[in-house]
Amino acid sequence: MSASLATVSYIGATILFILSLGGLSNQSTALRGNLYGMIGMAIAVFATVLGPKVSGFASYAWIIGAMLVGGAIGLYAARTVQMTQMPELVALMHSMVGLAAMLVGFATYIDTSIPLSGAEKAIHEMEIYIGILIGAVTFAGSVIAFGKLSGRIGGKTLLLPGRHYMNLVGLLVVIYFGREFLHAETMAAGMTPLLVMTAIALLFGVHMVMAIGGADMPVVVSMLNSYSGWAAAATGFMLSNDLLIVVGALVGSSGAILSYIMCNAMNRSFISVIAGGFGTTAVKPKATGDAEQPVGEVSPINALETAEMLREAKSVVIVPGYGMAVAQAQHTVFEITKHLRAQGVNVRFGIHPVAGRMPGHMNVLLAEAKVPYDIVFEMDELNDDFPATDVVMVIGANDIVNPAAQDDPTSPIAGMPVLEVWKAKTSIVMKRSMASGYAGVDNPLFYKENNRMLFGDAKKMLDEVLTALRA
Ligand code: NDP
Repeated sequence: MSASLATVSYIGATILFILSLGGLSNQSTALRGNLYGMIGMAIAVFATVLGPKVSGFASYAWIIGAMLVGGAIGLYAARTVQMTQMPELVALMHSMVGLAAMLVGFATYIDTSIPLSGAEKAIHEMEIYIGILIGAVTFAGSVIAFGKLSGRIGGKTLLLPGRHYMNLVGLLVVIYFGREFLHAETMAAGMTPLLVMTAIALLFGVHMVMAIGGADMPVVVSMLNSYSGWAAAATGFMLSNDLLIVVGALVGSSGAILSYIMCNAMNRSFISVIAGGFGTTAVKPKATGDAEQPVGEVSPINALETAEMLREAKSVVIVPGYGMAVAQAQHTVFEITKHLRAQGVNVRFGIHPVAGRMPGHMNVLLAEAKVPYDIVFEMDELNDDFPATDVVMVIGANDIVNPAAQDDPTSPIAGMPVLEVWKAKTSIVMKRSMASGYAGVDNPLFYKENNRMLFGDAKKMLDEVLTALRA
């Protein structure tokens, strides 16, 4: 393939990626958006493999071998991953982008096939240094995020004394060694500052995510998404690949916009997040003991009574959370919704921006169960409607409906906007026990007079409710 044809293909792929992002911004066009993305990626891969930079049998053998191995692992992961493991998989994939940027950085540095000198050499080395830096932070941070999301590493914050100063010193050392790297006469001399910087960047990535507590994880997930984009863009600079630069910038900036939206949803300042200074001010490590303990008694309810309440209601709001994903209860939820709507009940869904373990987690589940988009609402769209709602069904959600976020300034989730389900005539919380959610805090909602607890696995209880409704 000629260089100009490869360039045209890259432009076509870029347009498809932009259309893909546009499509993904709305549920009804998301499928089309995915399709554009897939076609764009196929064009990008073919144009790169068949393009002018690859030649010789050995190169093709390496590329095809790597594609077969990578493709097989990807296919296996996609087929076997549970919906609840999706966030961990995403974190793991981000770590791969970071690792790739690091490896490409080192490979480019030791590759002497293109002799450079003067300003060109300095710019090229700067690309390598920054590329490895971003890659290492993304890699280490994403591995820790994977550990936290999968429960392999505890959700507690690790707050080392003077951690901001440590980060600052780390940054100064990285700048100092950057200068040493650029002034190195030989490759061997440049390798030492490069390795020292890599070690510091890896430690910083670990430290950054370890310092972030349970309820703040959503911001980290979207931030690492953004970092992985910048890592890809850095790889693009190192390889002089325009498409990778553009795509990396698209992912990086859309991830940054998502982080900003998540910050608003979590009531965290965007600036303090990118400076790595959150998790210590408004939010404290979980269960410090000085937060107010909820008082009162809980009122249990059974599936039959729940069905009775739903049957008599005129307006019902369903609030899904992580537990619905664990129980895979979304299909039964939709069956109940269909049944109630057929009886003339106004049923709507209320989605909190950080419900579940990944941005958009609940929307994906509800879409999978074919819940119509026009009855799925954002938290802000529904919060004023709760006083006029007869029954709210909270299915496997906890932190996102915790009134302590508003009432208790000492709570670790103080200030986080929540769905005000307690303002409805009755709220029914479906979960297996009185256990806390991801943020590890008790929930005063469970003890409110107008709240009922339907204890049990969400799928099992909803099946019973559905049977009772149909009876
Ligand atoms: P929570 O983690 O607060 O609560 C989920 C609840 O589901 C638990 O209290 C659990 O209670 C219950 N549950 C678990 N399994 C089942 C089951 N099989 N059947 C019924 N209930 C079950 O989830 P939310 O969705 O309310 O809130 C999300 C939390 O996750 C927030 O703290 C958020 O910050 C955090 N987070 C969100 C991310 C995102 O991007 N959206 C990323 C990372 C973290 P029990 O054990 O008693 O059943």
